Amino acid sequence: MEVVHISAECYPVAKAGGLGDVVGALPKYQNKAGITSKVVMPMYRTPFLYNSDWVVDYKAKAYMGGWEFEYTIIKEVNNKLGFDLYLVDIAGLLDRQKIYGYADDAERFTAFQIAVVHWMSHWNHRPTAVHCHDYHAGLIPFMMQHCYDYQHLKAVPTVLTIHNAQYQGWLPWAQSMLIPKWDLSKKGLLDWGGSINPLAAAIKCASKVTTVSPSYMQELMHHANGLETLIASEKNKCVGILNGIDHEVWNPATDTYLTAHFDVDTVTNGKQKNKQNICEQFGLDATKPLFVFIGRLVGEKAADVLPAALHTAIGAYGAKASYMILGSGEPLVEAGLTNLAFANNNIKVSLGYNELLSHQLYAAADFLLMPSRVEPCGLNQLYAMRYGTVPMVRSTGGLQDTVIDMGDAGGYGIRFTHANETDIVHAVGRAIDVFENKTHLLWMRERMMQINHSWEQTVQSYTNVYKSL
Ligand code: ADP
Repeated sequence: MEVVHISAECYPVAKAGGLGDVVGALPKYQNKAGITSKVVMPMYRTPFLYNSDWVVDYKAKAYMGGWEFEYTIIKEVNNKLGFDLYLVDIAGLLDRQKIYGYADDAERFTAFQIAVVHWMSHWNHRPTAVHCHDYHAGLIPFMMQHCYDYQHLKAVPTVLTIHNAQYQGWLPWAQSMLIPKWDLSKKGLLDWGGSINPLAAAIKCASKVTTVSPSYMQELMHHANGLETLIASEKNKCVGILNGIDHEVWNPATDTYLTAHFDVDTVTNGKQKNKQNICEQFGLDATKPLFVFIGRLVGEKAADVLPAALHTAIGAYGAKASYMILGSGEPLVEAGLTNLAFANNNIKVSLGYNELLSHQLYAAADFLLMPSRVEPCGLNQLYAMRYGTVPMVRSTGGLQDTVIDMGDAGGYGIRFTHANETDIVHAVGRAIDVFENKTHLLWMRERMMQINHSWEQTVQSYTNVYKSL
């Protein structure tokens, strides 16, 4: 079985969020399970590129509209990540430091997809499946089936995994000429709501669609940023598969980013040492419960509620707790949190993306706050649990699939219903209470650290999908 993953992110090459974590881990565990699993992604200018050895695998020219461009495929030679990794270079479009956020992202990812399909069409064999991740690879199933030059790829099955349906990659119809000559009678497959919608096109054209948790699959039929009816009508080919985590990367007993290593037997001391390190670094009191938020400061994560909610929590519980925020996103939220930190000594904010600090925070924190409005799977809560940190989550998507409230039988987390100030403040109060009850806290830590969310057990679900094609 040979599977080709196509993605905009892959950890540690380039990561902005959970997509990167999944594509950096799933193929590794698929290879361990005997599947030849490869990753193809854009060649951004990230440290991984400069710190690895590469060989040129293929070089050719393709067209995007009237523009003829040259692309180069390079392959990592040392199997550093546990799978074959291919990067696509297109001068002027992909040779940038950041993954997203450029005005020409539509052209960048369209050219990337054209290059990948063009390259695959020159292979002398056909893979078992082409596995596309999110909208950045969403035009590929359509192109393989309905672009005249790639007809011989028509029989290759495709899988789409939806990591986040909020972003769909919309293109105005005026840009339809960017897609290599296609069968105009298939216009309806590209269109959704009057524009070209790569995510919708992939949902329509892929042989199978997966979402990153079973609950998210159900939710998408009601909340999918405009794609609800499409998801509902295609539900027979959709399946929700809960993400795993890479136990080799996210292991408190070996994580090289941590001040002190620990496992389930040494969790109390180990976490305290990591907490002391963070608290010294940021000027917080290590004897108080430490609440952490890590993530994009955007509406999906309910980050806009955080400044007011934390302000009220500080008012309600005084100096009983410390808070630490790591993330970046909407300027108003960043400003609100920075102002809050300016006025209160027990809250600190680190704006930006910082992989090292994120690991240290999962290890140091007592509680991880995730009030997300939308959470397709959520990896933060899984990492937190692996590091003995109690997840405080809103009951949505993957959060409700993975966290049991401590008030329920066997529960080890805190769940709440609304992404609002009242629910968050109440949840903080419950957390402070449990922090003071050390026996219960230790029981919860031990319980959650032993939950197995490794990819080893999830890989089979994807294998079943490929087998069904
Ligand atoms: P998303 O919706 O952002 O993909 P996930 O929970 O699926 O959310 O995955 C988030 C991943 O990104 C986790 O690995 C988390 O630790 C990481 N992450 C998010 N924001 C930051 C940040 N500012 N610095 C470091 N890592 C971050």
